[in-house]
Amino acid sequence: MNEYDSAKMADVLAAAYGTETTDRPEDADIILFNTCSVRENAQERVFHHLGRVRHLKDSKPDLLIGVGGCVASQEGATIVKRAAYVDVVFGPQTLHRLPQLIALRRASGASQVDVSFPAIEKFDHLPQARTEAGSAFVSIMEGCSKFCSFCIVPYTRGEEVSRPIADVLAEVAGLAAQGVKEITLLGQNVNAYAGKFSDLDTPDAPDHADLAFLIETLAEMPGIARIRYTTSHPREMTQRLIDVYARVPKLVSHLHLPVQAGADRVLAAMKRGYTALEYKSLVRKLKAVRPDLSISSDFIVGFPGETDEDFEATLRLIDEIGFSDSYSFLYSPRPGTRAAELPDDTPAAIKEARLARLQEKIEAQDYSARRKLIGKVERVLVEGPAKKDPGELAGRTDSNRIVNFPGPGHLIGAYADVRISAAMPHTLRGELLGA
Ligand code: SAM
Ligand code: SF4
Repeated sequence: MNEYDSAKMADVLAAAYGTETTDRPEDADIILFNTCSVRENAQERVFHHLGRVRHLKDSKPDLLIGVGGCVASQEGATIVKRAAYVDVVFGPQTLHRLPQLIALRRASGASQVDVSFPAIEKFDHLPQARTEAGSAFVSIMEGCSKFCSFCIVPYTRGEEVSRPIADVLAEVAGLAAQGVKEITLLGQNVNAYAGKFSDLDTPDAPDHADLAFLIETLAEMPGIARIRYTTSHPREMTQRLIDVYARVPKLVSHLHLPVQAGADRVLAAMKRGYTALEYKSLVRKLKAVRPDLSISSDFIVGFPGETDEDFEATLRLIDEIGFSDSYSFLYSPRPGTRAAELPDDTPAAIKEARLARLQEKIEAQDYSARRKLIGKVERVLVEGPAKKDPGELAGRTDSNRIVNFPGPGHLIGAYADVRISAAMPHTLRGELLGA
């Protein structure tokens, strides 16, 4: 989501001023920080990074420094109080107003702060998406109305709001016309999508499209070969959406379905709205219609009051499900959330040891799943040069695994068939068979 927002900031500025992006801060006329406040470390790092570019203003007085994203949304004007050299502060829902904020800053000489939530107007003001790669993100809903007890997102990104389905279809059609073959539908709880049909006035017609309907419609669109979506919430994993896995082969065999914990006591305190058994039964239903589905997840370790026994329940769940990957974090109290008030007497060293055990387990599971792919042929979308060796290519399999392989640069953006030759710690190696 943040990568998507950053790309949109660059698009908005390019459309308004013809700016280009640079990797060198000293070359920049505008420096924007897109920030995350989901955990404390991410939040504190913003001020650290700001401090590192501040001196650039000495030799370039017109340099403009801005802070966007969730820390901006949460802190608003206090950012300018703490770092007066910051020129603009904007939230995830006001990034389309950047040119106006910058113009106001230049005209008035005063720092500008706009962290309001103007519903979905943002999407009507973003320039048309441009891409040269074979894959693209498309944001279809924003915000979150779930209020899990540990999470700051509903406060920083506002309530769940969906884009009208016609707008989403038009954006994907525009991307497909530019050669995009793979799209990732984005949202904080993307499977809570409820996009208005704007042009139907038949009395019996539903007035909203759900994610299942959107995916089936997109699968019919010429040029679109693979559809992904992220992040989904277990509570919104409807039977209609599960059925789409049976009917739509273009929907990939990978699902990111955050579970957070395996003990019902902890899940209830987190206000997640499901039990471990309900989560397992969802996975069983999904695998019944798509046996090769790989599932990745998010975990929070060390939630207030989590006992050894609770943590063992999380490990058991991991054993039973077999996850392909995880984003796992130590719990970080977020001021203003309900969990921040819960007493917490688990020593930090115990939490850290739990996190290490959990990560080791998932890595081992994923490694053994990836080893089983050796010798198999996988179709990958070639995304670009390999990270470690730019002389090689990196592609993504249907099940969201990265394969590095030697091949010609003109394959970037195309599908290629590769035979998997080895499993590395986080990636696969392969040999190109054909494009
Ligand atoms: N909406 C998605 C869901 O609920 O499944 C997840 C979006 S959330 C912004 C991304 C992840 O950050 C969460 O799944 C959770 O694991 C982690 N997270 C959120 N708040 C946290 C906190 N206070 N401490 C540690 N991790 C946190
Ligand atoms: Fe945060 Fe829960 Fe919403 Fe996910 S569902 S963004 S964890 S409040």
